[in-house]
Amino acid sequence: MTARECDFLIIGSGIAGASAAYHLVDRGSAILLERESQPGYHSTGRSAAVFAESYGPRLMRVMTVASGPFLRKPPAGFADVPLMHPRGALFVAREDQRSLLEDLVKELSELSDDLQLMAPEQALQLCPVLKRGYVALAAHDPTVMDMDVNAIHQGYLRGARAKGAAIVTDAEVVALERRGERWRARTKVGEFSAPVLINAAGAWADVVAGLAGARKIGLQPKRRTVIVFDAPAGLDMAAFPIAADCSEQFYFKPESGRVLASPADETPVEPQDVQPEEIDIALVVDRVEQASTLRVERIVRRWAGLRSFVKDKNPVVGFAPDAPGFFWLAGQGGYGIQTSYAMGLTAASLATGRGLPDAVKSYGLTESDLGPQRLWA
Ligand SMILES: Cc1cc2nc3c(=O)[nH]c(=O)nc-3n(C[C@H](O)[C@H](O)[C@H](O)COP(=O)(O)OP(=O)(O)OC[C@H]3O[C@@H](n4cnc5c(N)ncnc54)[C@H](O)[C@@H]3O)c2cc1C
Repeated sequence: MTARECDFLIIGSGIAGASAAYHLVDRGSAILLERESQPGYHSTGRSAAVFAESYGPRLMRVMTVASGPFLRKPPAGFADVPLMHPRGALFVAREDQRSLLEDLVKELSELSDDLQLMAPEQALQLCPVLKRGYVALAAHDPTVMDMDVNAIHQGYLRGARAKGAAIVTDAEVVALERRGERWRARTKVGEFSAPVLINAAGAWADVVAGLAGARKIGLQPKRRTVIVFDAPAGLDMAAFPIAADCSEQFYFKPESGRVLASPADETPVEPQDVQPEEIDIALVVDRVEQASTLRVERIVRRWAGLRSFVKDKNPVVGFAPDAPGFFWLAGQGGYGIQTSYAMGLTAASLATGRGLPDAVKSYGLTESDLGPQRLWA
């Protein structure tokens, strides 16, 4: 059987594969292979859609800061709508969490001085549904934004397509083989071949490594649950910030006239089409009702998605040392949308032998901070 050939074969068309394709098409031809009938069915379509430069480990925050200018002001034609909208975030601490929040603000001040401690009275002015007496201390980050994830994802895909990339759906890669200088991928819709294979398979990235015979990175998918429920009648929450527990026990935010909330659960599971569990729904209801005057009377939507991490919680971006032409783009955890622009740029730059782009190198990052070898040291 003859294989369809290209320069870069990308497995997975979530935000990671899409942003990598967006950047790679300037350097060669690309094909994205997607198992599902539409891109974005898994983690990318299940996020909370928050952009926060004050969220996550330092490397993720660097990638977020480096993605900000593009997401705030994308090039003409990238999308018909703004990609981000102001939201703001309020990190709240109970009396017993006070020092946790103070330490968090200190740590985060290295990359941004936007996060400011505030007294409970001020916090309640910004988010009047928080319970008086629950909040001992708060920190406000006015720069946090809501993202239009679909517009961002479609923008990358459209941009890649405009420069010749093909997105092939219903194309699960079931076998991989290195023949000479090229990878050959087998799917039920045909075979595809390229010298460089980009593994952007989200929670399945280690499964794909197994197909290629490459050493795995110990990727652990973790389930996270989200509910959307009715806001109290007559209360306009549109301008409220996200309220988030400072040790990530819950968060809630306005969502198109309703409230979106999560218990910020992180349950390790196998890669799968994950669904919410009743226990996590009960947890989020309990935590939101303890911290706020909100009552969860009618849940209108519920879902769960996978956030996938390696042991140091940083992303894995770089060539596998043990499998020529096999490139890792995995471990985006809970930050894959907000970091997507810089992550795709970095992947494309490294996969074409140009080293780290200045936008991330200027923060002191090195290729070994990102590459897979660090995980086996
Ligand atoms: C509840 C929740 C809240 C989140 N909130 C945020 C947030 O507020 N901000 C933020 O930035 N991030 C957030 N995230 C994280 C973000 O959603 C992920 O980091 C990001 O979507 C990961 O993108 P991905 O492309 O790596 O994975 P995916 O979107 O899962 O894409 C991987 C794709 O690979 C395909 N695939 C797998 N194996 C194969 C194969 N063998 N052949 C072909 N295709 C294959 C899959 O079908 C899938 O479509 C959240 C995640 C969850 C679950």
